Amino acid sequence: MDPRTQGRTMTAIWWIRDDQRLHNNPTLDEALAWRKKTGGRLVAVWFPEQPREVVWTEFPHPIPKLSPDRAAFELACFKSLKKSLRAYHIEARVSTLNPIDFMETLQPEVVFYTHAAAIHERQQEEALQRLGIALQGFHARNLLKPQQVFSPDLPPTYTPFRKRIEALLGTEPFPGISTYSADASPSKSLFAHTEEGARAHLYSYVSAQGAGRQYKTRRNGMLKHSDSTKLSAYLSRGLIHPQEVWNRCLEIEAAVGGCEEVYWIRFELLWREYFQWVAFTAVSNLFRPQGLKAHSVSQPQKGSPKAFELWTEGRTGDALVDAAMRELRATGYQSNRARQNAASYWIHDLKQPWRIGAAYFESMLLDYDAASNWGNWAYIAGVGNDPRLFRKFNTQKQAEQYDPEETYRAYWSGQ
Ligand code: FAD
Repeated sequence: MDPRTQGRTMTAIWWIRDDQRLHNNPTLDEALAWRKKTGGRLVAVWFPEQPREVVWTEFPHPIPKLSPDRAAFELACFKSLKKSLRAYHIEARVSTLNPIDFMETLQPEVVFYTHAAAIHERQQEEALQRLGIALQGFHARNLLKPQQVFSPDLPPTYTPFRKRIEALLGTEPFPGISTYSADASPSKSLFAHTEEGARAHLYSYVSAQGAGRQYKTRRNGMLKHSDSTKLSAYLSRGLIHPQEVWNRCLEIEAAVGGCEEVYWIRFELLWREYFQWVAFTAVSNLFRPQGLKAHSVSQPQKGSPKAFELWTEGRTGDALVDAAMRELRATGYQSNRARQNAASYWIHDLKQPWRIGAAYFESMLLDYDAASNWGNWAYIAGVGNDPRLFRKFNTQKQAEQYDPEETYRAYWSGQ
């Protein structure tokens, strides 16, 4: 026995990351199995992102790492989890230390954690390995395991990735995923902060009568809650496993005799999956001005604080972009269509450095996910996984096509 641990109760840590759920959580399952086997103590610890400002070389002012609203949403999710964990007799703590200092001081027997995709979180995993503490990591926020993704390697663009994975997975559901059967009504707010709320929403949206039956047709709508799944924050914070979403889609597709509309949710889930593994492979390159490109790309050297102010406040004069940016400020959310236009406008119309826009989205989005955010921004900037170097959206045309009655623009014009 390690002399440091002699004479004290064995302790394991569940390092809570973006896997904040009880169901379909292999990380928690293994931690519970360890407790049962050893009779040791299991403590769950969450290390929230601390409010701070980040200085970027291409911008004169620092940008907050996370907004008060995002911090409050993440805290609310944690508090719900903490409450649920009482039923499992697991003490859940918040620590403002960094995970490495915390573990070094506590010296647990083992740390159970869910692997992250992006460099910063992966560096934490590596630092933990160097401490010599036993670690058990799980891919609990992905559809796929690395051996499925990298066989033989990650395709350079999305379509070959999707085709290969669809052929691999077929229409068999992921095994071992429990389903939700309670009769809870989904939350009326944009995002619930409970696992129960997340699951209730999934099973009501993706159901024989649910709005998901028109997902493909309606997903470019920007105004209504039911225009798209609104699962992003649940997936980002890990309130729900993507495999459960996948299985639920398959179940409804089978029940109604096939449904292209619902299938498209799985199509989009594969975009999420792709960006996770792109970030995993790209390590720090995803966050460079030149992104994934091997050579430097022509970029504005310094961003304009005035342009930033107009864009973030929704005062650029472009009605679609302004609506999108006001929505982001007010709710911490934008639809995918709105995000594409807002990002394209920042990069290609205002001619501003893409990383500054991405950093602002990072601070504001309740569903912030490093891989999806930075991957999409790099893609639109032409420095990501896109064979095209210039992905500019014509915001006037987009407004006419996707907001023909001007309802979205009108809704946010007075905010
Ligand atoms: P739906 O249209 O219902 O899609 C279903 C699910 O598929 C989503 O919940 C999401 O998990 C996934 N998905 C859909 N589109 C994408 C996409 N383009 N890339 C990756 N996953 C996708 N998504 C995040 O979860 N976090 C982010 O930080 C984020 N930042 C983005 C920044 C930009 C500039 C852009 C263009 C997109 C970004 N996205 C991000 C992707 C996408 O816009 C959101 O996932 C989606 O709008 C969330 O709404 P929804 O759940 O109703 O999506």
